[in-house]
Amino acid sequence: AVSLRQVDKYYGAYHALRSIDLEIAPRERIVICGPSGSGKSTLIRCMNRLEVPDSGAVLIEGAKITDASREAVAALRAVGMVFQQFNLFPHKTVLENCTLAPVLLGGLSLPEAEARAISYLDKVRIGDQAGKYPGQLSGGQQQRAAIARALAMEPRILLFDEPTSALDPEMIKEVLDVMTALAGEGRTMVCVTHEMGFAREAADRILFMDQGRIIEDASPADFFAAPKSERARTFLDQIL
Ligand code: ATP
Ligand code: MG
Repeated sequence: AVSLRQVDKYYGAYHALRSIDLEIAPRERIVICGPSGSGKSTLIRCMNRLEVPDSGAVLIEGAKITDASREAVAALRAVGMVFQQFNLFPHKTVLENCTLAPVLLGGLSLPEAEARAISYLDKVRIGDQAGKYPGQLSGGQQQRAAIARALAMEPRILLFDEPTSALDPEMIKEVLDVMTALAGEGRTMVCVTHEMGFAREAADRILFMDQGRIIEDASPADFFAAPKSERARTFLDQIL
């Protein structure tokens, strides 16, 4: 579970998150959408301490990750993240990208980590690319490698920040198909995305953000049928 309690975040004088309260249950699948600059990335980055709130608390499975406690470090191990720009290590092969954290942080031997990595690379259907460098892969393959890298740490909570928005249109589907399959596997998933087909199919809840606040929190059925706010109606008109 992920809990945010009265979270505020500033960048200098700019108030990027405004008293966010959010409870995400275990196994829940959340889609976060909203206009550019509304705070979506800041919010999701607070869930793995890439951003630290100025006030309030973020709890992962009960541990306050804003503390530097042993519980916080352990809780953060349960959280994986996939970024818009893949963030693969360019001078390591796809396989090495996937074994690094399991060996360094997860305590696996290299053969164990390689076996695990190959199983996740097969799962995202790029097992045959394991020996290549990221620059030798298409964007869609790189993003699937990044997903396999996150999965190799066997996270219970998986975060995605616009994982398809850097991809050419023909590669978006292959990544969304992987994400849709993952959504059926019982992890907690939090996805910032404007892919509303994915949201409708895979999400339990849609959060709509505007100006640092969550202004809608609804089931996909309710959100698409009747967004409550004018901002969300305008947003949906623009993207659908
Ligand atoms: P997008 O859809 O463009 O990705 P977003 O909803 O993810 O937008 P954030 O990246 O969370 O928005 O940014 C929220 C606001 O905070 C924006 O106005 C942004 O310019 C500002 N901001 C984000 N990161 C920083 C930073 N490191 N320093 C200063 N301002 C920042
Ligand atoms: Mg963003």
